Amino acid sequence: MSGQDAHVGRPGARPRSFERARRLPLVGRALDWGMGPSAASATTRNAGARIAGLKVTESVCPYCAVGCSQLVYTRGDELVDIEGNPRSPINQGTLCPKGAASRQLIDQPGRLTKVRYRRPGATEWEELGLEQAMDMIAERIIAARENGWQDVDRQGWRVDRTLGFAHLGGATLDNEENYLIKKLFTAMGAIQIENQARI
Ligand code: SF4
Repeated sequence: MSGQDAHVGRPGARPRSFERARRLPLVGRALDWGMGPSAASATTRNAGARIAGLKVTESVCPYCAVGCSQLVYTRGDELVDIEGNPRSPINQGTLCPKGAASRQLIDQPGRLTKVRYRRPGATEWEELGLEQAMDMIAERIIAARENGWQDVDRQGWRVDRTLGFAHLGGATLDNEENYLIKKLFTAMGAIQIENQARI
């Protein structure tokens, strides 16, 4: 018995004559309501899976702290596809619309890859080097910390804190990132440290 005939003769299988008729181009298409094997063109039959022969790497969706596992398919340096990982107990092969579109983080043509800065009062954006931008952020943090520093509160209790800045985290932050952010901002004297997930 050929591979195609293997199901014939099993309980519930359709008669062999029906299966033979099913393979005729026009008759088969009618018997299958246009959805069976006879409805597929030679091009479709030869197309194969879009991920066939690609390298697959397990990864984690970068968008939110649910931490869904992804399968990243590549051909050389080219990113071809990202799908949910069925081995993950978290998402079991699924991805939400954001995770399913995470390929756009890499190959979205409108993605910004340089620091852009609009000076106070300016109407145009300018590009900055990353080093320069990081230095500007550090200078502002130090200045805000000093300007908002309190040794004691209104009642005279010693507090050693700054009200010069706060931190609001987003849902894309995972446990480890939140731990480091909390540690850093507490060490700098901030007391308003929150996360979008709690608001
Ligand atoms: S953004 Fe969606 S796919 Fe990504 S981790 Fe969160 S729930 Fe999962």
